[in-house]
Amino acid sequence: MEKKQKIVVIGAGPVGSLAALYAASRGNDVEIYELRGDLRDPSTTPLNFTKSINLALSERGLNAMRHAGQPKLIDHVKAATIPMRGRMIHGKKPNGQLYEEAQDYDIHGRAILAIDRGGLNKRLLDILEEMPNVTFFFNHKLTGADFNKNKAWFEVKDGTSSGEKGQRAREIEIDFDFMIGADGAHSAVRYHLMKYTRMDYEQQYIDTLWCEFQIQPKENPEDDSLMSKFQISPNHLHIWPGKKFMFIAIPSDDGTFTCTLFAPAEFYTFLESDPSGTHIPDFFDTYFPGVTDLILPAQLISSFHSNPHLPLISIKCKPYHYSSSAVIVGDAAHAMVPFYGQGMNAGLEDVRILFDILDKHARMDEEIVDHDPASARERALDEYSRVRVQDAHAINDLALQNYVEMRASVLSLSYRFRKWLEEQ
Ligand code: FAD
Repeated sequence: MEKKQKIVVIGAGPVGSLAALYAASRGNDVEIYELRGDLRDPSTTPLNFTKSINLALSERGLNAMRHAGQPKLIDHVKAATIPMRGRMIHGKKPNGQLYEEAQDYDIHGRAILAIDRGGLNKRLLDILEEMPNVTFFFNHKLTGADFNKNKAWFEVKDGTSSGEKGQRAREIEIDFDFMIGADGAHSAVRYHLMKYTRMDYEQQYIDTLWCEFQIQPKENPEDDSLMSKFQISPNHLHIWPGKKFMFIAIPSDDGTFTCTLFAPAEFYTFLESDPSGTHIPDFFDTYFPGVTDLILPAQLISSFHSNPHLPLISIKCKPYHYSSSAVIVGDAAHAMVPFYGQGMNAGLEDVRILFDILDKHARMDEEIVDHDPASARERALDEYSRVRVQDAHAINDLALQNYVEMRASVLSLSYRFRKWLEEQ
């Protein structure tokens, strides 16, 4: 029988949580260490996000969850999604009239799903909580790791591990058989891994910042249904392409839309320099026609000033592992710009592929008496890095290219082309 392994997962984001689920469903002892508090506790502020961002969940991510060994997971996750069957391009005709044009993603009507990232994450944590072989360690920040001795160090805040409040930060040491680093773009696991393996590393900040806005639900005293609450079509990913800028809106299951402004950093500086904020609705009227009918100018100004203006990073590195001790997955391995809607999906897919390969190598050793699980794992991680690097790099590149597609190319495909056809 396979010896039980102690697997530690660093980071309880969507990718770390799914990795913990895969590891736990194979009977391992799983410990999850998370820098922040429990996301399900209302006092925990989500990292980088004002409230919670909405994401596009695609088949890549769904398939990874389908194989997590939890039959109900997919139904639960899907129940909280809204299908988006295409993009809706918003613009203004030369005569000043507003128009919207739907562009379906798939001729068979298949859709990508809008989902609340926090909601998905909480669902995964709830399932993990019920598993007897899983232990959470919130408010534990990985500060060091020795991947030859398989030891790691954490800074623990506020006595949360002992239940006492007001305690100063202290350090703890743990040991492990295998560490999975799912600690995001600024991964501490990756940083420590670099000291053990000859890792190539490349990072790029693109000259675009993002800021979040919200379209509120419609008041409709006569109709209480969810569908009646949406101000624009709930089954589309809405895009206001602005060539240099872009504004998008993704539906939420409470009738709101979570919207994101993408614009060059210098433009944020310009808009910030106007204390009255009147430039902001003017800017939206010029580049994103119709948005000020959906979000009142005062709301636009207040969201712009109160919500953070965040950078976008693209990271490529290789290999993703060291020996049999550690591997990085998700944003820790390949943070990407969000324009292809695949960052989280690709991270979830990492987990499926990683465990497929780990299982394959473990099976090969099954017949060997007293086999060492670390030996199969080392071969598996070697293969994982080899096969996954190419795909992850390709998705990073596609994501960068898709920014041009979304903010500019969609214009040339849509309205002008149709107008030209009508005139023939
Ligand atoms: P994270 O979500 O970053 O989680 C990492 C976790 O590790 C965090 O909880 C953090 O607190 C913890 N941590 C960090 N350091 C430590 C430490 N030292 N010790 C312990 N814990 C630590 N993806 C899609 O698939 N579709 C989309 O439509 C999409 N849209 C996006 C839109 C925007 C504006 C942005 C910014 C991103 C978007 N993404 C999208 C990308 C997606 O958000 C990320 O790819 C995904 O969240 C990565 O998940 P993760 O679990 O790897 O990392």
